[in-house]
Amino acid sequence: MSAQFHTSQVASLVLRRAPFLRRRISVEGKRRLLFRPMAAAAAAASGDGLKKGIAEFYDESSGIWENIWGDHMHHGFYEADSSATVAGHRAAQVRMVEEALSFAGVSDDPLKKPMRIVDVGCGIGGSSRYLAKKYGAQVQGITLSPVQAKRAQDLTMAEELADKVSFQVADALEQPFPDGQFNLVWSMESGEHMPDKEKFVRELARVAAPGGIIIIVTWCHRDLLPSEEELKPDEIKLLNKICNAYYLPKWCSAADYVHIAGSLLLQDIKRADWSDNVAPFWPAVIKSALTWGGLTSLLRSGWKTIKGALVMPLMINGYKKGLIKFTIITCRKPE
Ligand code: SAH
Repeated sequence: MSAQFHTSQVASLVLRRAPFLRRRISVEGKRRLLFRPMAAAAAAASGDGLKKGIAEFYDESSGIWENIWGDHMHHGFYEADSSATVAGHRAAQVRMVEEALSFAGVSDDPLKKPMRIVDVGCGIGGSSRYLAKKYGAQVQGITLSPVQAKRAQDLTMAEELADKVSFQVADALEQPFPDGQFNLVWSMESGEHMPDKEKFVRELARVAAPGGIIIIVTWCHRDLLPSEEELKPDEIKLLNKICNAYYLPKWCSAADYVHIAGSLLLQDIKRADWSDNVAPFWPAVIKSALTWGGLTSLLRSGWKTIKGALVMPLMINGYKKGLIKFTIITCRKPE
């Protein structure tokens, strides 16, 4: 599948193969499919409405994702300019975890390795279990989705890791943990869902132990130029469409994260743009969604999941335009 695949092509392909979905969309309203009204994005972007949308989105879509892609619900890390194979996706996702740990300088030394970890926005616990096994650490995962928390727990029991790893439904912005608990605070592709980025980073810093490392891997928009107050209207329009489908509030830039971390007096603040390393990812996801197995599970899953699938080409466009930046930000809580 070429990266040039457009939303309308994906939509018409899905519709052609699925009379059932055609009926459903006419009920939902074709205008929504064509992404004209942005009011839904704005409504979804606030408070409890947003949290409910996120929870329902992941309740509905996590099963299909797991069937096709396994228990890591995040981008893979590839060599820039390579292409991704569906067969190689798990290795690329594990590589993403390893690249993030290495970028942040997390130590493997038995005396320094992280022994208490929080996985903020844990999905079905792919990272949590990986980190628990790698470091022999105690890991606590939080997600807004009850379905994810249950599935994460079941997978963890099946891997006989239940004495090390546990999950609960909780809000990253009001974490159910006392201050200063964790040597590693891990947020893999959950930051983009947070409506208040400052509160998000403050909460990550609060639960970090003194000297603890914070890793945020997230979707950002490009840094603004000194002459700019905000993104261009066509850029905002594109991001709004993605927000609407993936239950995301307003985006921020990597520079905004660095600024927030600095204002909270966090140390060793580092950032990198890994957009080129994740570029092969979305074409591979679209390819897997367009297989017969992918399409049938998509149609069985529900409208929120279908809506998410239909905007996948917009992620590719956003990366190509240099608008979307796949970003890692790491820092350390002072001792
Ligand atoms: N980190 C996981 C999942 C990424 S998907 C992985 O890499 O596999 C995004 C996750 O963020 C979902 O689990 C979603 O429930 C969670 N999330 C989004 N907003 C959240 C919030 N406010 N509090 C807790 N979790 C949140």
